[in-house]
Amino acid sequence: MVGTQTYTGSQTGQTTAPKEFKNFINGTWQPAKSGKTFQSINPADPSDIVGLFPASDKQDVDLAVAAAKKAYEEWRLYPAPKRAEILFKAAQLFSERKEELARELTREMGKVLAEARGDIQEVIDMVYYAAGEGRRLFGQTTPSELRNKFAMSVRVPLGVVGCITPWNFPMAIPSWKIAPALICGNTVVFKPASDTPLVATRFVEIMEEAGLPPGVLNMVTGGGGAVGDAILEHPDVKLVSFTGSCEVGRHVNEKCAPTFKRVSLEMGGKNAIIVLDDANLDLAVDGILWGAFGTTGQRCTAASRVIVQKGIHAKLTERLTERAKSLKLGYGLEPGVDVGPLINEASLKKVEKYVQIGKEDGATLVCGGNRAPEAGPGWFFQPTLFDNVKPNMRIAQEEIFGPVTAIIEVNDLREAIDVANGIEFGLSTAIYTKNVNMAFEAVRDLDSGLTYVNAPTIGAEVHLPFGGTKSTGNGHREAAEACLDIFTEWKAVYIDYSDKLQRAQIDPVK
Ligand code: NAP
Repeated sequence: MVGTQTYTGSQTGQTTAPKEFKNFINGTWQPAKSGKTFQSINPADPSDIVGLFPASDKQDVDLAVAAAKKAYEEWRLYPAPKRAEILFKAAQLFSERKEELARELTREMGKVLAEARGDIQEVIDMVYYAAGEGRRLFGQTTPSELRNKFAMSVRVPLGVVGCITPWNFPMAIPSWKIAPALICGNTVVFKPASDTPLVATRFVEIMEEAGLPPGVLNMVTGGGGAVGDAILEHPDVKLVSFTGSCEVGRHVNEKCAPTFKRVSLEMGGKNAIIVLDDANLDLAVDGILWGAFGTTGQRCTAASRVIVQKGIHAKLTERLTERAKSLKLGYGLEPGVDVGPLINEASLKKVEKYVQIGKEDGATLVCGGNRAPEAGPGWFFQPTLFDNVKPNMRIAQEEIFGPVTAIIEVNDLREAIDVANGIEFGLSTAIYTKNVNMAFEAVRDLDSGLTYVNAPTIGAEVHLPFGGTKSTGNGHREAAEACLDIFTEWKAVYIDYSDKLQRAQIDPVK
C-alpha cells in the first residue's frame, strides 16, 4: 500500500465565512458587473473554501481592456529603466513575503510547501530578470549599404496583451508573461485559471503595491468561456499569451486567427526520461521519482514516460516501485508529505480513466492505480507505475497530467530516441548515461525544447528559453531573452543624413 498521511479532521481550521475578492481594473478593486461569484477550494480538503471570486464576463473584460488601452499611451513612453524600478520593488516584495505566499499557494493549489516555495522563487527570479531587461532591451545597429545613412532596429511594444494562465504554476507562469510584457511597455489584461484565483490576486496586489500606474495591469477572474473568449475576441487586444492544454490552445489560435492577433502558445507535454544500461541507477531513480511524481505529476514537463534499456530494466522497475510505494501523500502544509492532491475532481477522474485504459491496453500495473482516501478528504491518487508499456499505447502517447508514469523497454539509444520522439508533443526530455558520446547524440536528436543530461525533465531556470516543439507550442519561447520576441515587434529604422535622395538597390554607390 502507498504510504499516506492519515487525515485527522479539518486541516485548515476554517471557521469564518470565506472572504470575497475582486477584479482589479484601472487601479481599483471591483466586483464583476453581474455581481456573481465562484468559489476557490482547497484540493486537499474541499470543505475548506479559500475565497469567493468575481464570475466575470464580457462587460468586465471590456472595462479592463479599455483601461489597459488608455494606460498604454503613457506606459509605452515611460522609460524602460523606470518601469524596471517598479519591477525591482515588486521582486523585493515577493521575496519578503515568500513564505506566506507559498503557504497560500499550497492551500489553494495543493503542491507541497517546498514546491510552493519554488513556485514563488521562480516569480522572484523572473521579475528580477525582466527588470534587468529595462536597461537592455537591445536592438541592433548595422551599416547601411548607402553612404551617410544610419541603420538600426529597435523593439517596440504591441499594446494591450491578454495573459491566460493555468493553475499548476499559479504564480510562476503569470510572472513569466506579465513581467516581460510590462518591461517591454505593454499593458496587460490577466485572466488566471479558475482553480487558483487567490494566488493570482496576491500577485496583482504586490504589483500594485510596487507602484504600477492604474490600468497598466488589470485582472479579470472567471471562466474560460466567459472571460477567456471575450479577451480573444476583443479587437483592442493585440497579443494573447496563453499557457494551458492543447485543446484550449487550439481554440485560442483559431479565435485569434481572423484578426491576425499575435498568439503565443505554451501547451502540453509527454516527457520522457531515457535510462541507458550504464546509468547511475540511484541518480536515475531519484530523478524519475521527482520528475514523475513531483507536483503530483501535474507539470507540463512531468516525466510521464521512462524509456529504459533492457539490461537495466528489471532493476530500475524494482527500485522505482519500492520508492514510489514509500512516498507519503497528504496535505502539503503538513511536514514530511511528498505528494499532494490532484487539483480537482475532474482531474482525479481523468487519471482513473487513464489507469483503466492502461490496463485494458495490456500494460502491467506495478504499483498505485487507486484513489488514496486515507491521505485526506481531497483528490488524492496513489503514485502509479505501469510496466511493459508499448510506445503506441494511449498511456504512452496522451498527456494524463497526474501521478502516472509508463515504463517502456528498448534495446539501444537509437530506439530510445525514436520512442522518445514518437509523440505529438516536444517539451522536455532527459537522458541518464555516463557515456558522453551517447549524451551528445541524444542532445542532438531528441526533438524537444528542453533536454536534460543526468537530471530529470523538470527544473527550468528563468534565464534559459522555455517552450516546446511540435504540438507543445507555436514556435515561441518564454523566459530568457527569447521572451522579448513575444512581447515586442521589431522596427527597422533608417536615418539618411546625406541631404539627397538615395535609392537603395538602384543608385550606384561610389
Ligand atoms: P486549460 O484547461 O487549457 O486552461 C488554461 C487556461 O485557459 C485557464 O485560465 C482556463 O480558464 C483558460 N480557458 C479555458 N477555456 C478557455 C477559452 N474558451 N478561451 C480562453 N481561455 C480559456 O489548462 P489547465 O488545466 O489550466 O492546465 C493544464 C495544461 O496546461 C496541461 O496541458 C499542461 O501541460 C499545460 N501547461 C503547459 C505549460 C507550458 O509551458 N508548456 C506550463 C504549464 C501547464 P479556466 O481555468 O477558467 O477554465
